[in-house]
Amino acid sequence: MASLALGAWGCEASAPARGLGELAAHGLRPLELGSAALLPAAGVAEPPRAPSAPAAFDHAEDSRLGSSRSYSLGTTSRGRLVGGRPLPDQSAALVPRAISVARGAIYGTDELVGALERAAAHVAERWPGSVLYAGDLSARRGGDIAGHVSHNSGRDADLAFYLRDAAGRIADRDDLPAVRADGSTSTGELHFDDARNFELIASLVRDPRIQVQWIFVSAPLRERLLRAGAGAGADPALLERVAAVLAQPRDSSPHVEHFHLRLYCALEERVEGCLDAGRVHPWVDTFEAALQQRVAEVVPLLHTGAAEEARYAITRLVRLRARDAADDIAALTQSDDPETQALATDAVAFLRGQRTPPAWAHLLPEDAGE
Ligand SMILES: [Zn+2]
Repeated sequence: MASLALGAWGCEASAPARGLGELAAHGLRPLELGSAALLPAAGVAEPPRAPSAPAAFDHAEDSRLGSSRSYSLGTTSRGRLVGGRPLPDQSAALVPRAISVARGAIYGTDELVGALERAAAHVAERWPGSVLYAGDLSARRGGDIAGHVSHNSGRDADLAFYLRDAAGRIADRDDLPAVRADGSTSTGELHFDDARNFELIASLVRDPRIQVQWIFVSAPLRERLLRAGAGAGADPALLERVAAVLAQPRDSSPHVEHFHLRLYCALEERVEGCLDAGRVHPWVDTFEAALQQRVAEVVPLLHTGAAEEARYAITRLVRLRARDAADDIAALTQSDDPETQALATDAVAFLRGQRTPPAWAHLLPEDAGE
């Protein structure tokens, strides 16, 4: 697994945001996970929608999924968000920044918003009066947000630091003052709260319902947090994970004024086409087994003789980047059906790394480094 060039995903990076890359999403269905796992192939088969209507994707999926389940599709810098869940508007412990509300950038996956709620509540329970101000997450349907390279698919969140004033009182605030290496803000009036900020990070890293990929923060603040955790007697195994996920991006904002949290794809998202990029920490489950099972269910649909079903299967396999399925799909490049033939030709070229049709740009790996 390739690992990452950190800078590509920092927020407020100087690099221009990438093009949207529309999700060519046809026939996406929510999976019934939980008990045993994935739907049987017969359940996957019906009912494919016209593959020529990618623009209808968001609306159709939103109405189909309702608010019951969110999905991060594609990557964090090219992907989309389906069924995005807004930050709560009545929580005392977790408050969206006014500017993010104004931008509409308060939507995330169920996993992300739920994790923020739990972590903020945990800190506020231990230190009453604490308020975690959340900056930009994603737009309701994902896609590009001004000022961010990532934040496209509901798995990124900018978070204010917990702060104290000169008298040591809790002084959390909606704006994001820059914090220097000594922990003081640039005006010197406020101070980075090592204990609460560490507990926030630890709470996210410990949360069994999510898997944290990164929490970007400047290198001096990272050191402060690790010292605070060690000083508080944190479990060495937890500290090791905290140290692994805390990182200063190489060539974007150093993150001296906020954290940037990024989650890995959840299982239910992974088998629908959510794409991780970059480093995989040793303790992370990337759900490859479920993905392979999903691919194994879809491949037979290529060969049923029904053109719509075949096209549905092709687009699913492309979204899952099922490179091993390219040979199966290749048979359909000789299809009598022109639409299937064209789709299969594109898919084979894409999966073999020869060519990327514009509609599938969001499925490209983002990771050019290491
Ligand atoms: Zn960010």
